[in-house]
Amino acid sequence: MSSALESLRRDFGGGIIEPGGAEYESASRTVLVAGSPAYVLRPESVGDVQAGVKFAASAGFLLSVRGGGHSFAGFGTNDGGVVIDLSRLADVEIIDDERHLVRIGGGATWGQVATAMAPRGLAISSGDTKSVGVGGLTLTGGIGWKVRKYGLALDNVVAVEMVTADGEVAHASARENPELYWAIRGGGGNFGIVTAFDFVAHPTTDVFFGKIAFPASVAATVLQGWADYLRTAPEELTSIANLANPFAGGPEAPVEIEVAFDGDDLELAAQALDPIRRLGPVIDDDVALKPYADVLVDGVIPPPGIQLVTRSAFVNKESVAEVLQILSDVGASEGSPVISVRSVGGAVARIPDDATAYAHRQAELMFALTTVGPPPAIEAARPALEAIWGRLAPHVNGAYANFLASATEENVAASYPTETYQRLATVKNQYDPGNLFARNHNIRPQ
Ligand SMILES: Cc1cc2nc3c(=O)[nH]c(=O)nc-3n(C[C@H](O)[C@H](O)[C@H](O)COP(=O)(O)OP(=O)(O)OC[C@H]3O[C@@H](n4cnc5c(N)ncnc54)[C@H](O)[C@@H]3O)c2cc1C
Repeated sequence: MSSALESLRRDFGGGIIEPGGAEYESASRTVLVAGSPAYVLRPESVGDVQAGVKFAASAGFLLSVRGGGHSFAGFGTNDGGVVIDLSRLADVEIIDDERHLVRIGGGATWGQVATAMAPRGLAISSGDTKSVGVGGLTLTGGIGWKVRKYGLALDNVVAVEMVTADGEVAHASARENPELYWAIRGGGGNFGIVTAFDFVAHPTTDVFFGKIAFPASVAATVLQGWADYLRTAPEELTSIANLANPFAGGPEAPVEIEVAFDGDDLELAAQALDPIRRLGPVIDDDVALKPYADVLVDGVIPPPGIQLVTRSAFVNKESVAEVLQILSDVGASEGSPVISVRSVGGAVARIPDDATAYAHRQAELMFALTTVGPPPAIEAARPALEAIWGRLAPHVNGAYANFLASATEENVAASYPTETYQRLATVKNQYDPGNLFARNHNIRPQ
C-alpha cells in the first residue's frame, strides 16, 4: 500500500468506496453522468476533508469534488481519480436568530435547507430543485425563485469555511481573506472545498406559485410582453418562461410562464400577476398559495442512456426583443431544444459588477437551450443547435456556467470576462498553484 493510502486509512474517518464495493455503482456516478473513479471518499468532518485533499494531492490523483452532483458537465465524477463526495456534510444550523444567519454544510442540498428552515419561517433564494447542491449552485451563482428580490444565492453568503489545496482550513468573509471571499462568489470550486457556508436567510411567508400557460401560436407576443413587464414589475415577482417542451407537444407545446410571488397577500399577488394573465388567451392557470419549501421540485433523474446537454447565455436590455423573436421562431420549429428563459435583474443588478466574481449583473434575462435524448440523437441535433447559436451570437453575451454541459476555453471565457478571469487567476495562484481543483470551469494558475 502506498504511503499516501496508508495515511488516508489512518486519518480519514468517513466512507472509502472502491470498485467492487457494495455502494460503488451508485457512488461512482452523478445525477447526470457515469464515471469510474478509483476512490469515492465520503468525509464526515472537516478533518476528513483535509485528509482526502492531502491524499489526492500527494498521490497525484485527478480530483472531483461533489456537492449535490448536478453539474451538467459531470464535474462530480471522473475516471481513475478521487471523488470527494460531501453528502455527509449536510447540517443546517441557525447560528444567529436575530440576524437570520444559517450555517450550511458544503454537501447539503437545497431541499434539505428548505425543509430545515421552513419551521423557522426562513428561506434562502436558491434554485428550483430540491436535489441540487448548495455547493455547486452557490459557488457559481444561484438563480432561484426569489432572485429579483434577494439576489443570487451567492449574494447572501457572508462567510465560508474551506479546505484549500494544501489541506489547510481557511476562512473567507468581507473581513477575513476578502479576495478569496470575492473569488468564491462566482469562481466555482476553483479555490478549495467549502465545508460550510454562512448565509443570511430571509423571513418567508407562503408564496403564490404556479404557471400561467398560453397557446404556442402567441409565443412571440407573450414572451415580448412578459419581458417588457418584468422590467417594472414588483421585485416580489420572479418568473421563468418555458417553451417547446418535447413532452408537451414540442412546437405545439404551450408557452408556460412560471411565476413565484414572494408574499401571501392575495391582492398584491393579483396586482403583480394580472398583467401576465392579460398577455394573451390563458389556457391554464394553476397559481396557488404554497409553502416556499413546497415550491422546489424533486430533480428528475434521466433514465440510463439519456443525456441532457445544455448551454446558456445572458441578454441585455437592448437585445431582448431580437433574442426573444429568435427563440420564438426556434421554439416553433420541429426538433427545437427545450427553451427556458429566466428573469434576473432586480436585486442582482444593484450589486456592482466587480463586487463578486459573478460578472453578468446587468443582464435582464438568462436563457438555456437543452437537448435531451440518447447520444446519437444529441449528435444528430448538434448542427441545427450550432446554427441556432450562430443566429443568437450577435445578440447575447456571456454564459451562466451552472447551465453549461461543457467546459471548453470558450465556455470559460464566456463565464468570466477578461478582467474577472485575471483577478480569479491571481487568487488561484495563491490558493491552488498546482491546480488540484481542476474539475470545474477552470481558472488556470498563471
Ligand atoms: C435539475 C436541475 C435544476 C437546476 N436548477 C437550477 C436553478 O434553479 N438555478 C440555478 O442557478 N441553477 C440550477 N441548476 C444548475 C446547478 O446550479 C448546477 O448544476 C450546479 O453545478 C449544481 O451544483 P451541485 O453541487 O449539485 O453539483 P456538483 O456536480 O456536485 O458540483 C458542481 C461544481 O461545484 C463544485 N462544488 C460543489 N460543491 C462544492 C463545495 N462544497 N466546495 C467546493 N466546490 C464544490 C464541484 O466540484 C463542481 O465543480 C440546475 C441543475 C439541474 C440539473
